[in-house]
Amino acid sequence: MSIINNRLSKEQYDQNFSDIHPPFETKDAALVEANRCLYCYDAPCTKSCPTGINVPKFIKQIASDNVKGSAHTIFSSNIMGAGCSKVCPVEKLCEGACVFNLMEEEAIPIAKLQRYSTEKAMANKWQLFERKPYPSLENGGRKKVAIVGAGPAGLSCAHVLSREGIDVTIYEKEAKGGGLMTYGIAAYKVTPQFCEDEVNYILSIGGIAIKYNQELGKDISLDGLQKNYDAVYLGIGVGLARQLNIPGEAVAGVEDAITFIYDIREKGYDKVAVGDNVAVIGMGMTAIDAATQAKRLGANEVTLVYRRTENEKPCTQEELDIAKMDGCKIIWLAAPKEVISEAGKVKQLVCSKMKLGEPDASGRRSPVDTGETFSLDVDMVIKAAGQMPFETLVKNNNIENKSGKISIGKNSETNIKGVFAGGDCVNGGKEVVDAVQHGKDGAMAILSYLNIN
Ligand code: SF4
Repeated sequence: MSIINNRLSKEQYDQNFSDIHPPFETKDAALVEANRCLYCYDAPCTKSCPTGINVPKFIKQIASDNVKGSAHTIFSSNIMGAGCSKVCPVEKLCEGACVFNLMEEEAIPIAKLQRYSTEKAMANKWQLFERKPYPSLENGGRKKVAIVGAGPAGLSCAHVLSREGIDVTIYEKEAKGGGLMTYGIAAYKVTPQFCEDEVNYILSIGGIAIKYNQELGKDISLDGLQKNYDAVYLGIGVGLARQLNIPGEAVAGVEDAITFIYDIREKGYDKVAVGDNVAVIGMGMTAIDAATQAKRLGANEVTLVYRRTENEKPCTQEELDIAKMDGCKIIWLAAPKEVISEAGKVKQLVCSKMKLGEPDASGRRSPVDTGETFSLDVDMVIKAAGQMPFETLVKNNNIENKSGKISIGKNSETNIKGVFAGGDCVNGGKEVVDAVQHGKDGAMAILSYLNIN
């Protein structure tokens, strides 16, 4: 078996990677759904949104044809509201909390309505925010903040600071902004073009400059940023793929999921090699995105291998259903043990059969090796067993941390005065919407540190 690419026609690729959650086809369709909303008092949908978007308000604004006002309501709470409408696991957030679920009726399609408003705002380049003038000299004058990382946390922090009249410079180690949204999510959820448009829309307020290809610890230093700016915000995310630490892992055909997903987005569908028989290790969103995309690239068989049971899966039920509908197979209670190769290429994945033991630190029951094994004939293994924080970088900068995850106080400040942090580098990797809220929290803490407001 060999790894083959370019196996489908352009039309087939386009069809396989088309928008998984298409927008409303007509304005009337959006209005019908908006008018179903009960505009609940103390709305559970708002409470379950990590950024606290006022859902009934923005839906009411759509219903009264005030799309601009609706976009303003969304972006005031979440400047990445357009992207979040496409990638948020809404079934466990706003839509999962909608009161219609209690009546066993279909929940209001909040994400689709959010997309309706925010995409119109982006397409029409509506600038819905004004920057405050610089603080007067008596109040300290013009302030400058450096942000490391142009992902959701960094961009969200930058936008709030810019609105308050602060000049922000973001240092980004990649060639594009957007972080995980741009580099780590399936192309059928958000396209690279959308991600670029979203970053440009956020920057259009002014006062935010992004310096690309600038890596902390290599091209820039924390000391240097502290000297040149009034405050520093770290939104460096997590990056390094967790290794399986099993024999044979280094052979050709064993790839990490983030690289695989990145290549699909960056190089194009027909340029990415995919196996005939692919094993994907893990059951988080990244594992599902890798498995479904391997299938959509033309792999014959894709098998997700997870060491716990369905009850402990980290992905949502909807994500699992997508994988099943794409024809991916699933093996529960199995952990990779060894990759067998022939002539330098993957031939088999040996797995240990597992059973559930006692709950671990996260409260989930730990998998225990039964001592039995089985083998899968595969020519590609994709590792999606999580990502690791930048532990060495964090430690080299004397930032307090827990196994590389940056420790912050209630005010988002690290142990270093004037250095704040948030997003995946603090929480270890959650949803985009969580990082956006962290960015807002960080910005509010920086404003208070700078005595602004
Ligand atoms: Fe509307 Fe459902 Fe939210 Fe109530 S819970 S305001 S019905 S979206």
